[in-house]
Amino acid sequence: MNLDNEFFLGARVLLAGLCFYAALIGWRMGMGYTSHPDRRFRGIAGAALMVLVGLLHLSSGLDAGIRKAGLRVEMINWVWLAVDFLVPLFFLRMAHTFGARDRLEAELAEAAEHDPLTGLPNRMGFARLAEAALSRAARQGRPSCAVMLDIDHFKAVNDGWGHGAGDLLLKGVATAAKGAIRREDALGRVGGEEFAMLLPDLTPEEALPLVNRMREAITEAVPHPGAPERMLTLSAGIAAIESSDALALERGFQAADQALYAAKEGGRNQARIAG
Ligand code: GH3
Ligand code: MG
Ligand code: MG
Repeated sequence: MNLDNEFFLGARVLLAGLCFYAALIGWRMGMGYTSHPDRRFRGIAGAALMVLVGLLHLSSGLDAGIRKAGLRVEMINWVWLAVDFLVPLFFLRMAHTFGARDRLEAELAEAAEHDPLTGLPNRMGFARLAEAALSRAARQGRPSCAVMLDIDHFKAVNDGWGHGAGDLLLKGVATAAKGAIRREDALGRVGGEEFAMLLPDLTPEEALPLVNRMREAITEAVPHPGAPERMLTLSAGIAAIESSDALALERGFQAADQALYAAKEGGRNQARIAG
């Protein structure tokens, strides 16, 4: 037996192993793209190609190691083998780059739908969550309502204690509101000091005591920078959402906004039902 052939077989087996490993990575990558059919196809096709290359190397390694045992392995065969190692390495490098791009894409999508100050969904993120929550409730034949919450005299906080104090207050309100909602509720920061909520499974009359408890919880949890002379209060408007379509959702929030305006007119620190 020529030692050359054994080394050559060993190197081919190593290369085949690398190809199968690359195939596994490609397969996992392809299967992970549930919402990108084209990327899914490319990942799976890449995995299949790697399996094919791996099998070819395995068979030609066995051929050289067993059938041609004793024959000299030419220098050129070693050169081609070295070149062939680049195939799975290149594929793995590409998979790594795709992974980094996917992570960046996910981060950008997340950032586009969230408010950096409070971490809450922004107007766009809230719209998506609200639509999903609304249609879930509607499928089960349950009502939903729209709520608009607005901090009272927030401008006075900025003017009196600075923008930093205002930001701190916004963060406190967001945290307290997040802690007060149910799992199925949607919450977002849709304006400077305005928060929107979609509460499934509730009529406005049922939501009113909940919203009032929430306002009280926020007042208790978030100190006003001018405390104890001043305290933070919020006003709210509540409206029913008549059906599960996007137009009804928009109308519901418009009505909640009008009810909020009425709560402000009525002296603030209160919640009003639309109509
Ligand atoms: P009202 O009781 O009628 O709601 O009065 P208000 O002062 O709360 O409302 P107004 O709409 O007059 O003022 C809102 C202020 O919120 C104005 C704006 O400068 C401030 N604001 C908006 N976004 C931010 C933010 O991200 N940080 C800070 N600190 N202030 C903000
Ligand atoms: Mg306000
Ligand atoms: Mg406002």
